[in-house]
Amino acid sequence: MSQIYHDDDADLGLLEDRTVALIGYGNQGRSQALNLRDSGVNVIIGNIRDHAAVTAKEDGFHVAGIGEACKRADVVMILIPDEVMPEVFDTQIAPNLVPGQLIVFASGYNIAFDLIVPPREVDVALIAPRMIGIGVRETFVAGSGFPSFVGVHHDATGSAKARMLAIAKGIGSTRAGCIEMSMHDEATLDLFTEQAFGPAFGRVLMTAIELLIEAGYPPEAVLLELYLSGEFAYSFEKMREVGMMRQMDFHSRTSQYGTVTRSARFMDLAEPIKSLGEHDVVVRLHRDVTATLKVVVTAAG
Ligand code: NDP
Repeated sequence: MSQIYHDDDADLGLLEDRTVALIGYGNQGRSQALNLRDSGVNVIIGNIRDHAAVTAKEDGFHVAGIGEACKRADVVMILIPDEVMPEVFDTQIAPNLVPGQLIVFASGYNIAFDLIVPPREVDVALIAPRMIGIGVRETFVAGSGFPSFVGVHHDATGSAKARMLAIAKGIGSTRAGCIEMSMHDEATLDLFTEQAFGPAFGRVLMTAIELLIEAGYPPEAVLLELYLSGEFAYSFEKMREVGMMRQMDFHSRTSQYGTVTRSARFMDLAEPIKSLGEHDVVVRLHRDVTATLKVVVTAAG
């Protein structure tokens, strides 16, 4: 069984009179900053002088340059895009770190593949929300919170785990539960979902849409049938609440019959998905993704 942490395992008091610097004020940065502030934590933002810095100021935060924010903080949370992180870390973050600080990553990616090697004098931890940025804020405000994968990668001070859990509580994640995991497992699990499961799922959906439209069904009816009605999304919600099998009670008998008997026809999907999930392929994908992102960013810039 995985180790799962809840609110009772975390002590927000550890952050009293401490400063938490969030580097980046985008999807995760803004939501996590607002949640931490609402939890009573003193937050500053480290950002390049850009539109995110303006938003952070409008939201009432003190905004400093990245290096300055790092110097002033007890905890540094790195919430900028993964593909720019190694360069920003080496040039602006690492030279300004102070021994004893806790550095938090929201993705295991750069540590797992040795693209970032933090100094040994700081604690390093993972708090990787299983939630998009806007959901991090909305579920906090709604009171439910969101789950995360968490883990201590390096404990220089002996207090890395306690401080990591305090931050996880401050952003609202221990409310829903935090599962302990290594940087490596988080990164490869995430890559599996983004590079194997997600694309395979998306391709099945697109193929079904194309086939039905080619067969002469009205496009709007096809889209409604397959996702626009929200029926599938609702069924997924019910899967979360009562489990995969029990949610089938809410479907018609013919639907249950199809799910139980017809999935056998697609058993050969396991092999291609399994091969994409194998570690060496995932590592290769990681390099491809980084290269692709660089091309996209360069083209856009
Ligand atoms: P965003 O793309 O939203 O980050 C935007 C922020 O990064 C802005 O503050 C932006 O500043 C800053 N930024 C962009 N480029 C640079 C640069 N070259 N130098 C310095 N700052 C820069 O990131 P996310 O919030 O999506 O992701 C942050 C981390 O969270 C990543 O590790 C990601 O894997 C992880 N994560 C993300 C999830 C998500 O749903 N988005 C879910 C779980 C984890 P400006 O706009 O001013 O240029």
